[in-house]
Formats: sequence, structure tokens, C-alpha cells
Amino acid sequence: MSLVISGRIVPLARNAEKSTFQGKVWIGDDGRIERVTRGNAAGPRSGFDKAAKVDAGHNLVLPGFIDLHSHLAYATLPLWTEPGRTKPFLHHDSWPSASTYAADITWPAYAFIEAAPEALLAYAEVRALVGGTTSIQGSPPKNRPLDGWMVRNVEDETFGGTIASTRVLASTLTLKPDVLATRASQMKAGASFIYHCAEGQPNSIVAGEYQSARKCGCLQKDFVAIHTNALDPGDYAAWTDPGTIVWSPFSNLWLYGGTTDVPAALARHIRVCVGSDWGPSGTRNVLGEIKVAALVSKSRGWKLTPFDLVRMITCHPGDALAGPWNVQAGRLQPDALGDVVILSARAAADPFAAVLAATERDVRLVVIGGQARYGDAAPMKAAKAAFPSPLTVAGTRRVLSMTQLDDASAPWTFAQVLARLKAVRDDPKKALDAAANASAEARMTGAAPRLRLALDMPLGKVPIGGLPKNLGQIVVPPIQPLSHDAAFFASVAGRGFHGGLLDGLARFYA
Ligand SMILES: [Zn+2]
Repeated sequence: MSLVISGRIVPLARNAEKSTFQGKVWIGDDGRIERVTRGNAAGPRSGFDKAAKVDAGHNLVLPGFIDLHSHLAYATLPLWTEPGRTKPFLHHDSWPSASTYAADITWPAYAFIEAAPEALLAYAEVRALVGGTTSIQGSPPKNRPLDGWMVRNVEDETFGGTIASTRVLASTLTLKPDVLATRASQMKAGASFIYHCAEGQPNSIVAGEYQSARKCGCLQKDFVAIHTNALDPGDYAAWTDPGTIVWSPFSNLWLYGGTTDVPAALARHIRVCVGSDWGPSGTRNVLGEIKVAALVSKSRGWKLTPFDLVRMITCHPGDALAGPWNVQAGRLQPDALGDVVILSARAAADPFAAVLAATERDVRLVVIGGQARYGDAAPMKAAKAAFPSPLTVAGTRRVLSMTQLDDASAPWTFAQVLARLKAVRDDPKKALDAAANASAEARMTGAAPRLRLALDMPLGKVPIGGLPKNLGQIVVPPIQPLSHDAAFFASVAGRGFHGGLLDGLARFYA
């Protein structure tokens, strides 16, 4: 179904990134943008007679946000700290051996991915939508393909099978030279490679991951390095055909007390994106994370503007994906993906400053491939959203359009998702035993195998495989709200290694 959205368009179009105007975005039946017009200029001649029409007035119409660094499997978890620890962690191999890591992080995440994988993914994707996100990285490894459901999972997206599922490769763990060399050849053949690289304090041992990637030929234009906060600024000089880094300042400050040298990367023409990272040390969505980026920029005197920060969650990640995806994301322009977010803003507001200031309450509509997935009741109705169901976000009523993962004709509500997660939380052992029985039964009867997900982060200290011998020991913390709320800000103050800098985040939400 085609869709026309009118409003104050902030297209971030190539060659005119700062231009904003009152106009319309025309999304065709194929879910791609056919045209973007100014004022009342005519649209395409055909294909829009029966189009749904959404009028956003003077609210902002932007490309849907892209979160290029997250870990969906851990989305339900609260912020984590190791009790009694007084010094920041040295690097990404330090915190998994903390005494509380496995029980606080691995065990509850395992309970959800094993006992309720569909509900876990639904929770993580709804949380992304609530922050205006239309594409997200960090989809857990799985036993069967799952693209084309709700939010685009960047590693899984194949656009209905038109590109191979190996076009976006990712790794959270340190890879050996032979694998890095393979990734280097895959990038030469058109893939992108998103790699957790050099995550830790400056000049700690993990900086060697970047040097190893360099030696293996990975410093290419389609290399996406997550973190790189352990690098010395001069290290970027070796990346002569610059690619992309993903900056997660909240997580960096929380764990290591410092963060990526963004001006050094920008000076080398490296594209900088912002990612939210994971529940235990991250924000809830990239709309929150750019506020952290603004706090860091201000405290360091980096002078990043709201325009710079908005690009880090729209056209920058969109350009990083455009090669492997073979379609432009993160920009509203002809032939690009019809992924759109509408944010409320005053008529006179500077558009980029308004995006930086926006919170979950300002997200009025989220459209993916021309289909309305989440928003206020009125625009959801105008966009003819399928299977609308209510939910409450940050104290406001919203509408979600979601179906079951395996059945596009079966509606699914967020209340049902939460009920499923709560059942796992109430009795993890019972839920895990039931899942094991269901898997065994599927094997015996030859039925289709259950969806299985894997954890993509370190499991922590043994017992076996990071799990307790007795599953009855698993305690699952409360499932976190979808938006940044007072309890989140209370859990930030006085914890982690940010020295108070992250306390400033609450002011954006006051
Ligand atoms: Zn990560």
C-alpha cells in the first residue's frame, strides 16, 4: 500500500543534508520512496490514487533512526555494576570475569532467549520502535532466517531474498587472523563487516585487535568498527580508505571511564555513527544515546552540533549500509527505503535541535517500508496500520502494529509479549524445562524445530557454559520499561565510572 506523509521534511538528502522544508514524502507500494516534494508540488502521476495520507503538520518528518550497535538478546536487563569495584574496567575482557557477571547478565538473558525467544525479540524491537528506530544491529545468532518481520535487523535483512544474508557480517568477539583475512576478502566482494574492535581504555592490550585487523587487510571502506576507544588518535591514520566507527559513549563511560576520540576519527574522514549498546551498560535507544553524545561533546569541548549528532543515527549509518544493502537507508530521497519517523516539534523550532531534545513522548509515528508500525492513534489510523493494539509509553497512550513472528495474519499485542516474559521471570527453571521438552518433542515428531537464539556476548566465568548447574538458581531482574524513566536515571547516579557526566541525561527528560 502506498503512503504519503506531509509535514516539515528533514530529509538529510545527499548533497543537501541541512535543507528542511514543508513538503511530502511519497512511498510506493514497494516500500521505497518514490519522490520527495516541496510545498504543494504535484507528486508522481500514478500509483497514489488510493494511498494512505498522514499529515504531520509542522512536526518533523525524518528518516527512521538506525542503531548500528546493540545486542537485542540483553535488552530486558537493567544497568549492571560489580558491587564494591572502585576502578574502571581495563577492557572488554575484564568485566566478564567479574564475580556477579554471569548470574546478573548471562543467566537471565539465557532464560529469555531459550524459553521465550519470540517474545524477547518482540520486546527488543518494540523498544527500538519507541525510540524511532527502524533498523537495528545486534540480532542474536539464530537457527533459521528471520528477516522481514518488524524492525530491520541489519545482519538478517535480505529484502525478500534480493540480497544474500551474508552481506552484513558481524562479530562481538575477537577474531583470529585467518578469519579476519576471510572478512577482508568478503568486504572486497561487497559485504560489510561490523566488528567489536579495541574496546577498552586507551592503549590497553585490546588496541591490538585493530592492529590485527589492519594487518589482515580489514581497514576498508565497508569495515564498521564498534568502539575503538582503546586506540591512540594516531592509529586512525592507517585507515587510508576510511570506513565507519560506531560510538557508544554511555557504555564506554559506564565501564571504562572514558570514550572514543571522535574528533580524531572525524579528522581522518571516518564516518561516525552512534549506537545504544546493551541493557547492562547502555541507553534504551539511539534517541537517548545522542543526548549522551552531546553531553560528552560539551564536556570535552568537541563542538559537535545537533546536526552532526542527528547524522550519526540517520545518514551516516544509512551510508554504511547502502553498499551491502544495495539500497539507500537513513535518507529521504528517491529510491531510498520508505523508513520514516515523525517527531513532534514546535513550528519555529530548529529541526536538528528539536531532534536532539526529543524523547520517547515526541515519537508520533514510525513507518518501516511504508508500513506504520508504532505511533499515536490518529496517524496510525490515517496510515491504515494493520492489527492496531494499545500500549502505554512514558505515560502516553500509543498504538502498535505487530503480528506473530511466524504468522503475518495473527495479531500480537505488547501485553501478550510482556505476559510471556513475566512467566519466564516468575519461574525460569520451569520455563526452561518446558522449552527443553518442546525441543525434544519437535525432534521426535519431526516437527519444524523451535526458534533458537544464541547469546552474542561473553558468558562469564564457568560453571559450565556460563550457566549454573541448577537452573533453579537463575534469578531474572525486573523487565525494564521501554523508555528512559525516573528509575533509569536513579540507577545511573552514583554508579558506573562516568564521574557524574551521565547524570546530565535526566535533564533532557525532565
Ligand atoms: Zn557491544
